[in-house]
Amino acid sequence: MSLTADRTAAAPASTSIREGAFGHATDLVCRECGATQDIGPHYVCTDCFGPLEITYDFPAVTREQIEAGPANIWRYKALLPVPDDIETSPNLEPGFTRLLEAKNLAAELGLTKLWVKDDSTNPTNSFKDRVVACALSAAREFGSTVFACPSTGNLANAVAAAGARAGIKTVVFIPSNLETPKKVNSAVYTENLIAVEGNYDDVNKLASEIAGEEDGWAFVNVNVRPFYAEGSKTLGYEIAEQLGWRLPDQIVIPVASGSQLTKVHKAFRELVELGLVDDKPVKIFGAQATGCSPVSEAFREGWDVVRPQRPDTIAKSLAIGNPADGIYVLDICRQTGGAVADISDDEVREGIVLLARTEGIFTETAGGTTVGVLKKLVETGQLDTSLETVVINTGHGLKTLDAVSDLVGPAATIAPTYQAFVDANIA
Ligand SMILES: *Cc1c(COP(=O)(O)O)cnc(C)c1O
Ligand SMILES: [Zn+2]
Repeated sequence: MSLTADRTAAAPASTSIREGAFGHATDLVCRECGATQDIGPHYVCTDCFGPLEITYDFPAVTREQIEAGPANIWRYKALLPVPDDIETSPNLEPGFTRLLEAKNLAAELGLTKLWVKDDSTNPTNSFKDRVVACALSAAREFGSTVFACPSTGNLANAVAAAGARAGIKTVVFIPSNLETPKKVNSAVYTENLIAVEGNYDDVNKLASEIAGEEDGWAFVNVNVRPFYAEGSKTLGYEIAEQLGWRLPDQIVIPVASGSQLTKVHKAFRELVELGLVDDKPVKIFGAQATGCSPVSEAFREGWDVVRPQRPDTIAKSLAIGNPADGIYVLDICRQTGGAVADISDDEVREGIVLLARTEGIFTETAGGTTVGVLKKLVETGQLDTSLETVVINTGHGLKTLDAVSDLVGPAATIAPTYQAFVDANIA
């Protein structure tokens, strides 16, 4: 958590909150000291500057109630900080993406049972549509006038699109060296794509400053971060529901800020507490690219702190050198008997091609990282190949075409004649 965060940086304009605006959420609790605050546009503990997280008083929820809901994240609205009428506010209705059994990839890697949770099919082709939908609800309830984010790419796409649909002004900030497809994928939805000369950590720092100065700005992953983060829980809920209301034995999750991994873990715990799934151990693994692997480094070295790194990797959507939730990822992976591992950019590229050629799923560099780390964990014996495993594909390959454009391409360029085809000796 950045200590530059101003404790009064509660930028959204209005603090009078309507009844039921945040569903069954009861408080904001500090992850460090446990102090609680009322639900509001806050993200930093006033006692110790630790990050805040949402707690709930859940109603009794049944599998049948959830199954009767819409085929998107709002089927879990009772477990999210959103109002009961959330479906009626314009949003992109993300979620309920496919969970595919990956028999070919499993055979290739020597795993007994493997599933891919394919979040590349969300409205803007990454898992970020989930978190943005929850942040948008919070921004609306706080009366924010600008919907904004610092982003490594996918978040900007999701914020720009969701804001367009909701009719709220958007301003999205990205590092200027981002892939062209990701820039276009934001700029097509918003006039206010701002390229910042710096890396993500510079962009994030700028966003915190703006959030502290400007009224009415909801930065989804800064001042409404506690609400945004809860959206990632829906990945965990869906995986359990799609497995037939069971938890997997092992799961491999990419790590940028680390928020997604911590919330998938939280989701599994909540489902157990609510009696919706049986309790069982789930080993949680984190995946990073070596060029930005602060959490993996800390795991390997046995550190309790995450030392910031300067990112240099093709996995730009994971390129956060100073991850806000890094230490919580470390705790969870250690406690559950999982691990955090990293792979080189070449292995990231190979991971993209491996998933495409075995399962027909084109993932971006983040997914290449996750699949590549899965492979590495099998090779190092850190992952038990006899256990049921889930790997999350968080984004679409068309956004990072350049990563593999030198690796794949036409096997031959031939004249339009049968003889030329024969001569080309196509296997
Ligand atoms: C943002 C992102 C992640 C990681 O998200 P965190 O919650 O910040 O760890 C993973 N994959 C993709 C494609 C992303 O865009
Ligand atoms: Zn605190």
